[in-house]
Amino acid sequence: MEIQVSIEKWKSGKISPLMMFFDDSIESHIKNAIPALSARDLIGTFYLNPGAKWFDHAAWNSVAAKTNMEFANHSWTHSGAKNADDGEGEIAACNEYVLGLKPERKIPRLLSFAYPGGCKWDVPEEDKIKALKKYNLIVRPTSAGRSAGVHVKTASELKALVEAGISTGSPIVIGFHGVGGEWLSIDLPIFTELLDFVSENKSSIWSSDPVSIYKYEMERDSSTVRISRIEGSSASRISLDCPLDPLYDEPLTLSIQKTSTIGSLRISQAGQALQQFIAGDKLCFDAVPNHGEILIEHEQTA
Ligand SMILES: [Zn+2]
Repeated sequence: MEIQVSIEKWKSGKISPLMMFFDDSIESHIKNAIPALSARDLIGTFYLNPGAKWFDHAAWNSVAAKTNMEFANHSWTHSGAKNADDGEGEIAACNEYVLGLKPERKIPRLLSFAYPGGCKWDVPEEDKIKALKKYNLIVRPTSAGRSAGVHVKTASELKALVEAGISTGSPIVIGFHGVGGEWLSIDLPIFTELLDFVSENKSSIWSSDPVSIYKYEMERDSSTVRISRIEGSSASRISLDCPLDPLYDEPLTLSIQKTSTIGSLRISQAGQALQQFIAGDKLCFDAVPNHGEILIEHEQTA
């Protein structure tokens, strides 16, 4: 029996990834946004400025320990950069803080970055590129035109952004500043209406962060997946090879077309059993490229 394996366009076989950005590390994120996201098991990415005078260290340290939100670099002070050295200092200090919020994760790793708005970042283009590379930063996708409280103000406009993503399969990006407080704010009831709508569409939406989504896309588009039968047995071997460097370690979702001839399977990578799940008519599992041989052992029922 032949089985065919392919890489799903998005994680878990979802139709569209969703990233929600929250800028400027303000109190309404801690008071309003994070509890509302956590209650629905959704992910937000918070762009922090630990050197800004309004930054509450105790509150962010405590929220980082308690939630699975993502944190990202928005520069140390949110006051811009006078030259390349100044810019590097702003980036380096913020990076150290953000990496330190999740000490259990490996270092180095890629972090998301957004230049602070409303100020000048007076750094030559080539120095900007150098600094991003040195600190493993990925500039986030633009939320221009999709910034809540600025371009998008009503619940129905926000829901339309989500619907557009689901209908095209492309990433959904929504930017936020204040949520029921502070600047460029969106009202909390509008925000919760959006989150409820996202929850209702969870079977289609991969709620994640820009780095995980970027890594998935990069790995998906560069990896090769090959399947071969193991001589003298009913097992198959899958190799999942990615030419990118080890910072690209996001699990990819692989899928097998489910046919009546496939009985129950045992799927493992480097000896570890992998969890299987169904998406549509496919049997799926997550595996990390370059992390060892994937084995599919099956019992034929026909
Ligand atoms: Zn900002």
